[in-house]
Amino acid sequence: MTLEERWRRVMEGKAEAERGAGREVGSVRLLAVSKFHPASSIAELFRLGQVDFGENYMQEARAKQAELAGLAIRWHAIGPVQTNKAKEVAGHFSLLHTLGTEALARAVLRRLPENAVQDALLQVNIGEEPQKSGVAPSDIFGFVETLLEGGLTAENGAQLRLRGLMCLPPNCGEGELARPYFVRLRELRDGLETRFGLELPELSMGMSGDYRQAIEEGATIIRVGTDIFGARPPKA
Ligand SMILES: *Cc1c(COP(=O)(O)O)cnc(C)c1O
Repeated sequence: MTLEERWRRVMEGKAEAERGAGREVGSVRLLAVSKFHPASSIAELFRLGQVDFGENYMQEARAKQAELAGLAIRWHAIGPVQTNKAKEVAGHFSLLHTLGTEALARAVLRRLPENAVQDALLQVNIGEEPQKSGVAPSDIFGFVETLLEGGLTAENGAQLRLRGLMCLPPNCGEGELARPYFVRLRELRDGLETRFGLELPELSMGMSGDYRQAIEEGATIIRVGTDIFGARPPKA
């Protein structure tokens, strides 16, 4: 299958899942996860109408951004970001999916150009796995409270705007096994909205093997790599 055929197949799978879940077709955003894949593949998909691309590694992402500077791509940062790399993210991505520490929030704010607003999702370590980053579900309310009380978000006029939650569950990519974690993420989001009076419309969840379940459970952004680009080449 060609890149175009694989992309079309994912678009069809997404539409099918949206219809099956009684959601409007086109209401879920497809984020093409392009890590380790060349800028030429990104450009090819962009010409077909794919606008959102996700990258994990900041150096790789920034190089591709430079190479594709003429295209109106919406870039998403979906990998862990070290505090000392905040300047590579701040203002360079339309959405940061992996905000999980107060230190990163402060570092991003320090690095943002004046008048820029950085949209961000809180990464939740939904399966409480030690090897994964993100805030534990039991800590997420405290974390949001810290951000709000610290005056670090748009609610207090700061340039960081919380837009929702993101997760990478255990057994991710394995269909039904991931579903309970998607449900849990949605419930946490609902709880945060109620408790803090926030608007958190985005749920970034679901990848190649489980985006259908994610859509059924309320995902607004699915992050798909392998099903679009094929297997990832080893990192150069
Ligand atoms: C690589 C990656 C994906 C895409 O995974 P696939 O299984 O290739 O679709 C999604 N989300 C994150 C955070 C990733 O790192």
